[in-house]
Amino acid sequence: MPLEVVTIPCRSDNYAFLLHDSDSGNTVLIDAPEAGPILAELEARGWAISVLLITHHHDDHVEAVETFRARDNCIVIGAKADAHRLPPLDSAVEEGDTIDFSGHKIEVMDVSGHTVGHLAFYVPDAQAAFTADSLMACGCGRLFEGTAEMMWASLSKLAALPPETLICSGHEYTAANAKFAATIEPDNPALISRIGDIETARAAGTPTVPSTLQLELDTNPFLRARLPQVKTAIGMQEASDAAAFGEIRRRKDAF
Ligand code: ZN
Ligand code: FE
Repeated sequence: MPLEVVTIPCRSDNYAFLLHDSDSGNTVLIDAPEAGPILAELEARGWAISVLLITHHHDDHVEAVETFRARDNCIVIGAKADAHRLPPLDSAVEEGDTIDFSGHKIEVMDVSGHTVGHLAFYVPDAQAAFTADSLMACGCGRLFEGTAEMMWASLSKLAALPPETLICSGHEYTAANAKFAATIEPDNPALISRIGDIETARAAGTPTVPSTLQLELDTNPFLRARLPQVKTAIGMQEASDAAAFGEIRRRKDAF
């Protein structure tokens, strides 16, 4: 297993991730919500950051960028579209770009919706996608800047990744997300079983992130907006996928 993913809880409910290549000894940090817990993990493992990937401009994802730039002189990479409101970038990227990390490909995806300019990073060799506040565990980010159509297009791109892909998302919101999901599909057996797993994990203080894309396809009401049974459940049999998604997002905002 040359590439290892490490999940680091930060702040009250954020996650940062390390992607470590044991052949080269190099490490990528995805988002920098808070310096302390990430520094502790790096020191415990004797690792330094080579590349810092930023998913989007919100404070709870970029607050500690300068700590790691100063500590490890890492290359900071973020969205070209957001260069004006991100910490200074060494490399500005967009949808379709590929970043080389020690011989491993990191594919840049535009997953706008929560913000316009939100990126996800897909790493085929790690079978992992870093999705932050786009696709989340049993949920998705709020539409602060983008439209329902935009977020639906973003979620659809992520949904097309291999089902075994690890979904490394930005927050521990899973229990509340699953509670909402049960209002849409109360009889979905995969969801019922996931709710039990979430309760067990949270009782043990264990993160529910990352999940897998297959689990999201089976239980996440936002990804499932295209399914006839979900459209029927919200009384929108004839609606477009994006419109059904938009209605589920509105219901979650009011939940
Ligand atoms: Zn955010
Ligand atoms: Fe966030």
